[in-house]
Parts: sequence; structure tokens; C-alpha cells
Amino acid sequence: MDFEVIVLGAGIVGVSAALHLQDRGRRVALIDRRGPGEETSYGNAGLIERSSVVPYGFPRSATALLRYARNRSTDLYWDYRSLPSYATWLARFWWESAPQRHAAAARDMLPLIERSVAEHDALAARADAQSLLHANGWLQAIHTPARFELDAARAERVAREHGLRVTALDAAALRAREPSLAAGFAGALHWLDPKTVANPGELVARYARLFETDGGAFRRGDAATLRRERDAWAVQTADGLISANEAVIAMGPWSDLVFEPLGYRIPLRAKRGYHMHYRPQRGTLSMPVVDTERGYAIAPMQQGIRLTTGVELATRDTPPTGVQLARAETIARPLFGLGDRLDAEPWLGMRPCTPDMRPVIGPAPRHPGLWFAFGHNHHGLTLGPVSGKLLAQMMTGEPTFTDPRPYRAERFG
Ligand SMILES: Cc1cc2nc3c(=O)[nH]c(=O)nc-3n(C[C@H](O)[C@H](O)[C@H](O)COP(=O)(O)OP(=O)(O)OC[C@H]3O[C@@H](n4cnc5c(N)ncnc54)[C@H](O)[C@@H]3O)c2cc1C
Repeated sequence: MDFEVIVLGAGIVGVSAALHLQDRGRRVALIDRRGPGEETSYGNAGLIERSSVVPYGFPRSATALLRYARNRSTDLYWDYRSLPSYATWLARFWWESAPQRHAAAARDMLPLIERSVAEHDALAARADAQSLLHANGWLQAIHTPARFELDAARAERVAREHGLRVTALDAAALRAREPSLAAGFAGALHWLDPKTVANPGELVARYARLFETDGGAFRRGDAATLRRERDAWAVQTADGLISANEAVIAMGPWSDLVFEPLGYRIPLRAKRGYHMHYRPQRGTLSMPVVDTERGYAIAPMQQGIRLTTGVELATRDTPPTGVQLARAETIARPLFGLGDRLDAEPWLGMRPCTPDMRPVIGPAPRHPGLWFAFGHNHHGLTLGPVSGKLLAQMMTGEPTFTDPRPYRAERFG
């Protein structure tokens, strides 16, 4: 046996799992068809979202549903040809988003969210990556005074309940805080507990380098070649076939390519999203700004000002539409002083989503030695390190820092 564990997928989740397993004495091989952190974990908004104590649910107000039905909003765009393949998934997402079930999802996610910043800090310190993390928090910018009042009251309630820090900035205070912003926002809520990342792909690459420096093996290979050979799991890599007692599926939105052929029917779907980098025209921001009313985020990144979009419902293989990027760009350009586009093409990524808003972390129910770590929805960058720790604790029989049952695969039958 070449290794004790093969981790399939070198996004933030796979890299973190590999590191935590190695820290517990396992000989680990990390496999990806690309370099570490080059897919979904590269292109996100960079928020380590300690303040997201309630996961994104399916909107239930009639106004929101009507708006989405018209398919003209910036925060959600759906490709009508893809809708049949999302129908059952969306129905379950709707059901899981009823107030009591949504509250249960929030409760189940809290132990992971609460530790998210601390677990990143611990890895970043070892990986010489602290300079990529910023402790400024982020701004939730709000257009209308009435909405600002409502959201500020709600934010204060959530902050009190969860021991979070939030400051309400009126229009003048916001302009003083972020002079590059044009007039147009009634104010903002400054969430202070989250950290933000100036280059999420580079952060994952540094965690992967730490894994290799500490003795781990990274190999290029196709995870879809995974097969059971006697008592081992084997996978084909560029350096030949490797095998191990245990394997972890951590391929984010592509995880179904391995678990479905093994007979698992876990409802994992992509909520797609785009980004584009821009040259700043009026100086840059000191922290990311999320326009929750219009559904896009603007983040100062090493590559330029990054605009990330809301959700596009379209199957994984649908060619990029760019619809939302065009819509968000029209709104954001004058507000944030966005200059020239810096990328030749919009980046397209896939949030790996489950309809009950919880990831799948734990053993594969019918295959000894096979483990799952995927489905981190809108917060995979946030949750990668803490999920890696939980999985490694489960795999090595260590006491787990939280009850892992909410994340088990069996909940989907
Ligand atoms: C627009 C946008 C904004 C976002 N903003 C945030 C944010 O601010 N904060 C936050 O916490 N989260 C955010 N997210 C979500 C977050 O980016 C994802 O949840 C997270 O990156 C998922 O990580 P992962 O490791 O599971 O998947 P990935 O990063 O996609 O990693 C999966 C890996 O599997 C590999 N792979 C796939 N198929 C194969 C194969 N056949 N063989 C070998 N390797 C394979 C891929 O190459 C990839 O490296 C955002 C997502 C999007 C799209």
C-alpha cells in the first residue's frame, strides 16, 4: 500500500482534510486534475464568513418569488432549459427552508461557523499565509433608508444572540470609511468578526505547500478512475496507479462523478456564479462590500477589484451565460468606480450545494474506507479547515469537537 489515505480534490476542503489527516500521523496522497485551489476555491468573494450564522435559504416571500419568476434580478438567474434537472432539488430546498427547518439548519451549522476563523488562523500561521488574511470584516451596503433601518435592527438582534460584533454606518460614516464609494447607499452594516482573503486561490495553494513540506504527496490524476481493489482504494495518477486503505471524496461540485457510480443518490447541485476583476478608477476599498439587495459582492483582491455575482441555476455543462455579471456590472460600475475589465473572460464557478444547507461529512454508508467531504454550499472557503478537522477526527477515531450526525450522508437515504 502506497498511502494510508487518498484525498480526491485539492480545493479548500480536500487540502484542509489532507493536512488534518497528516497532522494525525496518516500518510496522505492528495489528488487533483489541476493545481490546488484552482477551481471554486479560487474564484469566490474571499469571505471567511463567521457572521453567516443563518444559511442561505429559499426565499419564501411572495414578492421575492414573483421577482425571481420574472428572471430579471441580479441575485438569481435561471436557465429555463436546466430547470427540469433542478425541480426536485428546488422542491426539497423550499421544504427545508420553512422557518423551523431553516432554524434547525442554522443550529446544525453553528459549531462549524463558530470555529471557522480560528481554524483558518491556525493553518495560515503554519503556512506563512497570514498576510493574505485581513481582519477588517466586511460591509453589507444598503440602498434604501427603510431597508437600512430594518436590516440594522435585524443585524443587532443576530449579533446579540450570537455574540457577534456589528456596527451600523450611516451614509456619511460609510463615505468616510470608504472614500472610493459614490453616493447611492443609505448606509452599511459593518460585520467585524469575519476575516477576508486577498487571494483565495493563493491561500489554498499555500495550505497545499504546507501539506507537501510536511511530507504529503500531491499528484495529478483523474478521481473518476477510483476503484476498489481487494481491501484498498486505487486511483490512476500521472505517476501511475496509487492505492490506500481509505479514500476521501472532496471534489466539491464534481463529487457526484465519483459517488454516483458507487450507487449514492445524494442531491448535490451547482449554484453557479461569476467573477470579473476591474482596474480601480477611484482608489480601492479597504474591505469587501456586499450589496445584499442587488445580490453581488465587490472585494479588493490582489488581482484587482473582484465583482462576484449571485446564483445562476444552470447545469454544470451549460456554457457560461454571463447574464448576471452584465447586470451586476451595470449597477456596480458607477457606485464602486470600476474601470476596465482585467480578465479576458468572466470566471465561472459552481457552489456545491445540498438542499438542506448542510455539507456531507462522514463515512460512505455502504463502502468501508470511503469518506465524504463535500457540499459546502455558499461557504466552502469559510468551512474548509474546520470540516477538514472534523473529518480527520472521525477518520482517526479521535473525539470530535462537535456531533457530526447532522452532516451524515444517510440523511438522504
Ligand atoms: C461566485 C462565488 C462566490 C463565493 N464566495 C464565497 C465566500 O465569500 N466565502 C465562502 O466561504 N465561500 C464562497 N463561495 C463558495 C466556495 O467557493 C465553495 O463552497 C468552495 O470553494 C468549495 O470548495 P471545495 O474544495 O469543496 O471545491 P473546489 O474548490 O471546487 O475543489 C474541488 C476540486 O476537485 C477537483 N476535481 C474535480 N473533478 C476532478 C477529477 N475528475 N479528478 C481530479 N480532481 C477533480 C477540482 O479540480 C477542484 O480542485 C463562493 C462561490 C462562488 C461560486
